[in-house]
Amino acid sequence: RAAAYAELRDVEPFTRDGTRITVMMNAGLRDDVSALQLTGADGIGLFRTEFQFLVSSTLPARDRQMRLYRDVLDAADGKPVIFRTVDIGGDKAVPYLDNHTAEKDENPAMGWRALRLSLEREGLLKAQARALLEAAAGRQLSVMFPMVSEPWEFDAAKAIFEEQADFLRDRRKLMPESIEYGCMLEVPSLAEVLDILLPKLSFISIGTNDLTQFLFAADRANPKLAERYDWLSPAILRFLARIAKNMVGSQVRIGVCGEMGGRRLEALALMGLGYTRFSITPAAVGPIKELVRKVYLPDLTKQMQQWMMSPPPDMRAALAHWAETNGI
Ligand code: PEP
Ligand code: MG
Repeated sequence: RAAAYAELRDVEPFTRDGTRITVMMNAGLRDDVSALQLTGADGIGLFRTEFQFLVSSTLPARDRQMRLYRDVLDAADGKPVIFRTVDIGGDKAVPYLDNHTAEKDENPAMGWRALRLSLEREGLLKAQARALLEAAAGRQLSVMFPMVSEPWEFDAAKAIFEEQADFLRDRRKLMPESIEYGCMLEVPSLAEVLDILLPKLSFISIGTNDLTQFLFAADRANPKLAERYDWLSPAILRFLARIAKNMVGSQVRIGVCGEMGGRRLEALALMGLGYTRFSITPAAVGPIKELVRKVYLPDLTKQMQQWMMSPPPDMRAALAHWAETNGI
């Protein structure tokens, strides 16, 4: 199989009806980026910048952050990279953020983490903004904010970046060729104000790991719940279907960067709901490309639309059966 996927490296993932599906990969370390060439992924749709923070015993200095981001852009060699600002705090506690570690939060996943923390510890986000702007000098910079729950949080985070950009411009530093902003949709509340958010940004990436956790009120790290909630449950699929529908006609790109998109039947369901952009774990890039090339999208879309109106009792079994009948 590995050889088969290697053969697919330079093959573009078109469906049988000719729809180009974008298959990017998730990364978090400098060394992950080599998988871009190995898998032939279209880029890095999610670079989790918190990895550098989590493996460090002290707050990574701005210059160290800058070097990592610059190395990542160098290694990506012109392929797009979306940098997500730090998602630390909560259960991803770091020792150097004194007094604000997990034991203070009773529900760390819903606690003081990600952008909530970054907006209060403004110095942290300012340093990261400067590091990213400098690393992308002369190149494209794509920035994404995690755990945005209301549009004002996006505005506030973007303002911090723009302030740092102005600072560099004033000093006649080489700027990124262009800067685009986006946010994760992983807190359900954001879906309810999508119309307010859309005019503000360039892209949205759905984080199905956290989204599922919050939609079902089920801790993603609790093994007792792991088997209980299925990504193919009608509740999550209808939620995602509604977002896709509300995005029709928008210039804003929408993708999925949670683990869901890297799984066979889940990816099929997402394509059937209208999703064409995925960022997934590197090991899944080959298998998902292979899957894409077997799909005839109009049939899949029709089937998913019907199932969204009246879901079968076992969606997973129904999809598996559909895939088999359709030679997938
Ligand atoms: C997600 O929540 O789906 C996601 C992609 O982000 P993370 O797994 O890093 O929380
Ligand atoms: Mg998340």
